[in-house]
Amino acid sequence: RRDSLFWGPPVQLEDREANPSPHPKGDDDGVASDGIEACIGNTPLIKIRSLSEATGRTILAKAEFLNGAGNSPKDRVALNMIREAESQGLLVPHRGDTIYEGTVGSTGISLATLAHARGYKAHICMPDDQSYEKSDLLHHLGAEVERVTVAPITSPDHFVNLARRRAEEHERVHADGSKGFFANQFESTANWQAHFRTTGPEIHRQTEGRIDAFVAGAGTGGTISGVARYLREEAKLRDVKIVLADPQGSGLYNKIRHGVMYSPTEREGTRRRQQVDSIVEGIGINRVTENFEAGRDLVDDAVKVTDEQACRMARWLVEKDGIFVGSSSSVNCVAAVVAAVSLPEGSQVVTVLCDSGTRHLSKFWKRIKDLGLEEEEESSDLFAELGIT
Ligand code: PMP
Repeated sequence: RRDSLFWGPPVQLEDREANPSPHPKGDDDGVASDGIEACIGNTPLIKIRSLSEATGRTILAKAEFLNGAGNSPKDRVALNMIREAESQGLLVPHRGDTIYEGTVGSTGISLATLAHARGYKAHICMPDDQSYEKSDLLHHLGAEVERVTVAPITSPDHFVNLARRRAEEHERVHADGSKGFFANQFESTANWQAHFRTTGPEIHRQTEGRIDAFVAGAGTGGTISGVARYLREEAKLRDVKIVLADPQGSGLYNKIRHGVMYSPTEREGTRRRQQVDSIVEGIGINRVTENFEAGRDLVDDAVKVTDEQACRMARWLVEKDGIFVGSSSSVNCVAAVVAAVSLPEGSQVVTVLCDSGTRHLSKFWKRIKDLGLEEEEESSDLFAELGIT
């Protein structure tokens, strides 16, 4: 594997062809990037040394928090949704158009950033149980933000339905010739296609095609479907295992394992379970979206991850590797370890680090503190917890 330019000897620009590297980002000619959009994609693939040593398998993580606009994989998705809308004439720069979206945060942050870069406004509807770091950030980014009470997807007040309604109302409210565009990340094919066109090929290139499993959680399902379809169908890696990382309370684990969202005994709790009962933000869902459906047949297995396991993993990663991430990244890493040890020694597993821990200080990292994990001498219990000795 190639080392990052930051650690190797200085590389002359002429040598870039011989020493390609994910860094520096932006245009490949090594000069200035044309706007913030050019800082999206080509993220590093990091070998997580501690987990690789502990499992005897190579665990690699796509550092999606290093996407340079909104700092998550949603940069890729937001850019693709905007570009597609522009090509269809649904968005026209500097006409006063507004992009409306229902999001738990990351997509809103990417959309708000890119909206300004391309001459639009952003209006974001999000559930009120998400951390304030994200809604505060959206305000600072100049987006209109509506935090709404958690409601089932069947309710008109669910954050996604509210965003759709706000877009429909746009022309009545703003009689200035501007248009409203509902981005619709859960159902838009531009979502999984962004990962099919960029994340999947990057992983394929960075592993030189040596990848035994890809592990990711699903919020909309865009990442897992897009990467799975690229690796299996386009790169023809027929044997790569696709594994869903699912937080506690999410229905997708049962859907993959048993073909139904809920076991019969759980069914009576269905109403309550419209909202995933977990501290984890961004992944875990109780319905099959278009984006999850796009790759569902390719998902071979699912790993359920408890909040406590996710907390222990986050603490482990910062203590052993200096990697400070949020809750969905931690769930992915737990599931990556579980998937890795089910494969032969020496196997190579790829997962995703979605966003930084700084977005999760008030909820996830507070829970880690409250559990006393920061005071523990060493997070040596993690592997015992996972049943790995
Ligand atoms: N992590 C975080 C922090 C997210 O916000 C999301 C998307 N909501 C995901 C992971 C999951 O990505 P996807 O929507 O592609 O399934």
